[in-house]
Amino acid sequence: MASVTYRKVSKVFGKGVRAVDNLDLEINDGEFMVLVGPSGCGKTTALRMLAGLEEATDGDINIGDVRVNDVPPKDRDIAMVFQNYALYPHMNVYDNIAFGLRLRELGSLGWQLTHMGEARKIKEDIDRRVRETAKMLSIDALLERLPKELSGGQRQRVALGRAIVRKPKVFLMDEPLSNLDAKLRIQTRAELIRLHRTLSTTTIYVTHDQVEAMTMGQRIAVMNNGVLQQCDEPTKVYNQPANKFVAGFIGAPPMNFVDATIDDGWVKNSTIKVRLPQGHPALEMAGKKVTLGVRPEDLYPSVSSPIPVTDENRFTAHVDVLENLGAEDTVYLQVGDHAMTATVDPGSGLSMGQDTEFVLDPDKIHVFDGETEEAIR
Ligand code: ATP
Repeated sequence: MASVTYRKVSKVFGKGVRAVDNLDLEINDGEFMVLVGPSGCGKTTALRMLAGLEEATDGDINIGDVRVNDVPPKDRDIAMVFQNYALYPHMNVYDNIAFGLRLRELGSLGWQLTHMGEARKIKEDIDRRVRETAKMLSIDALLERLPKELSGGQRQRVALGRAIVRKPKVFLMDEPLSNLDAKLRIQTRAELIRLHRTLSTTTIYVTHDQVEAMTMGQRIAVMNNGVLQQCDEPTKVYNQPANKFVAGFIGAPPMNFVDATIDDGWVKNSTIKVRLPQGHPALEMAGKKVTLGVRPEDLYPSVSSPIPVTDENRFTAHVDVLENLGAEDTVYLQVGDHAMTATVDPGSGLSMGQDTEFVLDPDKIHVFDGETEEAIR
């Protein structure tokens, strides 16, 4: 196992596509780090540079204490799992898992008779490791099957097995669950978390899916346009997003944003007005244009509000659409010129088309600078 460090790493393609821009990121030994961001934000490029499949334009990449920028991919001791698992179609599951090990560990011996005893020992060791790995992934009953005789989830597990069996210093996973259906994704997600707990191998996992990031990462690194926006534990990123981009990207339904101004202790616009909590730095910024951010779960219908309804937090909203999801309802509201979303308990008594009163919790609001979009907190 090993830590991984990106120090001021950039990648420029052709004449100026800055896919990764000055990335500083440290992944601890044994950590499960998720790189998350929208399509094209540079996640895969960051991963490929670590694997040695792309050359960094600038900066240093370290695995443990070793700067690996100039180390050939095969000598970096990492294993990668991709979205399309690319198994060898003519080999059964056993051989797919064993292939890399055989190449690596027997290939160097050559075929001289003097090495026969050693080769037998290595083969036995490979056999033990393949069976152990297959058992860990519950594919031990499938070792004789060809890839075409497996389901998508089983194939993905074989691909994982191929990576795990090598016991690499670092696992790199690039959207490994995207080809699975929704149910299998959730199941495999849990399996990967369990597997990491067992193996404790440093893992960097790339996804554009913020739910995967939130549920899997010990820390998550949110990227946009090649730039790292924030890196922290999932709950920290959710509760204290560094800027408007992170706030809008992490969380579903996404955070509501409303243009507003700071005015004598309030954040307000023509329809919403909320008192700033004591000690909030925006209290000192009278006249500043800001964006007020409110998570959908921090809006409550007045009639069932868990916090006191006062003139300082109530506002009128029109219920456009109400979606019943079983465990909760998603309510699409029109508040003055702004569309907002609230998640409320089912049985809230709301109905589509009605005008009603909502409150928002002043202690849970987010305020972002109207120009820089950085959080003011
Ligand atoms: P996705 O989730 O869609 O895979 P990503 O966040 O992984 O996206 P990258 O694949 O790293 O993003 O791409 C980052 C940027 O670099 C994009 O603008 C992409 O078009 C560009 N890019 C990636 N590879 C190359 C290449 N070989 N040549 C030129 N531009 C590239």
